[in-house]
Amino acid sequence: MGSILPLRHQPALPLDRLILTDRPGPEAIEMDVAIVGAGPAGLACAIELSRLVTGARAAGRSVPELNIAVLEKAGSLGEHSLSGAVVNPRAFRELFPDLPPDQLPFRQPVTAESVFFLSEQQARRIPTPPTMHNAGFYTASLCEIVRWLGERAEQQGVNLFPGFPVASLLVEGDGVRGVRTTASGLDRSGAPGAGYQEPTDVAAKVTVLAEGTRGMLTQAWREWQKVSAPNPQIFALGVKEVWEVKRPLDRVIHTLGWPLPADAFGGSFMYPLGPAQVAIGLVVGLDYHDASLDVHQLLQRMKLHPLFRPWLTAGQLLEWGAKTIPEGGFYALPERRHGDGILILGDAAGFVDVPSLKGIHYAMQSGIFAARAAFEALTAGDTGAGALAAYDRMVEGSFIAADLHRTRNMRLAFKDGLYVGGVKAGLMTLTGGRLLGGKIAVDEDAAAPRAPRPAPSFTPDGTLTFSKVDAVFKSGNATRDTIPSHLMVGRDVGAEVADFYAHMCPAGVYERAGDELKVNAPNCVDCKATDVLGPRWTPREGGSGPKYRLM
Ligand SMILES: Cc1cc2nc3c(=O)[nH]c(=O)nc-3n(C[C@H](O)[C@H](O)[C@H](O)COP(=O)(O)OP(=O)(O)OC[C@H]3O[C@@H](n4cnc5c(N)ncnc54)[C@H](O)[C@@H]3O)c2cc1C
Ligand code: SF4
Repeated sequence: MGSILPLRHQPALPLDRLILTDRPGPEAIEMDVAIVGAGPAGLACAIELSRLVTGARAAGRSVPELNIAVLEKAGSLGEHSLSGAVVNPRAFRELFPDLPPDQLPFRQPVTAESVFFLSEQQARRIPTPPTMHNAGFYTASLCEIVRWLGERAEQQGVNLFPGFPVASLLVEGDGVRGVRTTASGLDRSGAPGAGYQEPTDVAAKVTVLAEGTRGMLTQAWREWQKVSAPNPQIFALGVKEVWEVKRPLDRVIHTLGWPLPADAFGGSFMYPLGPAQVAIGLVVGLDYHDASLDVHQLLQRMKLHPLFRPWLTAGQLLEWGAKTIPEGGFYALPERRHGDGILILGDAAGFVDVPSLKGIHYAMQSGIFAARAAFEALTAGDTGAGALAAYDRMVEGSFIAADLHRTRNMRLAFKDGLYVGGVKAGLMTLTGGRLLGGKIAVDEDAAAPRAPRPAPSFTPDGTLTFSKVDAVFKSGNATRDTIPSHLMVGRDVGAEVADFYAHMCPAGVYERAGDELKVNAPNCVDCKATDVLGPRWTPREGGSGPKYRLM
C-alpha cells in the first residue's frame, strides 16, 4: 500500500461559481453593507456600525442611515455556531461598555483550571502553560452568544437574513459590488423542483466576509486577487459534545497526549456549563499522518478514560457537533484583509491563537475594527481599497496582531511531533516568542502524505459512546435528502482514498462501497474538514445542515 497524498485527489476551487462578473440584478436588495456570516465577527461588525451611526448623530454629525444586512446560511441564528468555549470578555466590554458581566451571554466564570497529560489509563497533572491561563474568563455556548448578539443587532435596526447562504461574490473590475445567495428548492439533479426560489442578489458598497473557518468566498477572493500569505493556512478538526451531568464540574480541564498518536497535534477540553452541563471535545491538527485517524472515534474512546468517565456516567448526551479551526496563526494571515469594496474578519482571516485556543474575542474585535473602517469610508463616499485599508492598520496596531505574533511559531513547531514541538513551544513561551522566532515554513494540510493503516475496531455502546449516525442525529441535522450534493469529489478516488475520507469525516458523509466512494451529502454538518483534505464543500440550500442549540 502506497501513501495517500490528499492534494492529488482534490478538485480546484470552483472560482467560476464563486466569483461572478455579473452586476447585481434589477431585483437586487440595495444595502450599504452586506455581512456574510452571523458569527461573533459578523454580528459585532453589524452592532458597532449601527452604534457608530447613532453615536455620530447624537454628536450632531449629519450622517445618513446605513442599511446593514447580515446573511447567514443557518436556518436560524446560532444553529451553525460551534466553539469550546472559554471566552475572553474584552471585546464584549468594548461593544457593551454599560453591561456588567452577569448580563453578558456567559454560563459561568472560570474559577479553577487543570491541565493533564494522558496515557491510556492515567492522567498526570502538569503545570498550566502560561498561554492556557483562563482566570477572568467565562465559559459559554457560542450558539447562545450568537443568538444574544443577533437580538441586539436586530434591536439596533440591522437586517438579519438567516437561511440565506451566499454562493458568489458579484465583482466589477477589481471591486466587489455585492453577493448572490444560493437557490433553494432544487431537486437532486439540480433542476428547479417544488418550492423553487431563485437566488437573491444583494448589492452593497462594502461586502464583509465573516464566514468563519475555511471560508469559500475568502479563498476565492484571495485566489482571484492573488493575495498570498507567508505560510498557507492550516487547520484542526474539533469534535464536541454537550452532556447533561449529575454533579457540577468545578474546573476547566485541558489535556494533551492520549488518545492522539505522538505525531499528531491536538488536545482535549472539558468545560463546565453551569451546574448540570459540561462541554467535552477533542481537537486534532489535520496534518496527521495516519490515514485511519478518526477524530469522532477518538473522542468516543477518550470519554471512557478514568479522567472523564466518572463525570459522564449516568449523564446524557444532549448535542454533538464538529467544526474546523484555522491554526496557522500569524504567518498564515493574508497579506491584506481588505480590498475594493471588501473586508475579511474573524476565522475567515485566520485570527485564532492556537496555544490559548481563543478566537471569539479576536473575531469580535476584528468586526469592531471593520465597522469603524467601513463607517468612515461610507461617510466619506469612498469604499475603495485605499479607504478600507484603515481596517488592516487597526488590526496590526492591536492586541490581535500582537497576540498572534507572540505565539507565531508555537503550533508550527509541532510539525516535528509532540515531544520536539513541546520543547520548542516551551522555549518560545519562556522567551515571549523571541527564541526560535523566525518563520517555520509549513505546507498546506493536503500536502501531508497519509499512511493507510488498518483502522482500530470500536463498537459504540449507545450510552457513553456513539456512532456517527447517532452523532449526526444529535446535531439536529434534518437536511432535505433530495437536494443536489454540495460536495465536489475529485479524481482517482479509489478504495484507499474512500477509506481515508470515511475516517476523516466526523458525520459519516463518506463511505466506501466496494472500491468506490459513496457520498451521503445531507449528513454534512459543515465542519469543512472535507474542504481542507478531500472533496470541496460548496454552499447549499439555506437552512441545511446542523441545528445546534448548545454548542
Ligand atoms: C472545537 C472548537 C473549540 C473552540 N474553542 C474556543 C474557545 O474556547 N474560546 C474561543 O475564544 N474560541 C474558541 N474557538 C474558536 C472560535 O469558535 C472561533 O474563532 C470563532 O467562532 C470565530 O468567529 P467567526 O465569526 O469568525 O466565525 P464563525 O463563528 O464560524 O461564524 C461564521 C458564520 O458564517 C456562516 N457562514 C459561513 N459561510 C457562509 C455563507 N457562504 N453564507 C452565509 N453564511 C455563511 C456560518 O454558518 C457561521 O454562522 C473554538 C473553535 C472550535 C471549532
Ligand atoms: S462532508 Fe461535511 S461533515 Fe463531513 S468532513 Fe466535510 S464538511 Fe465536515
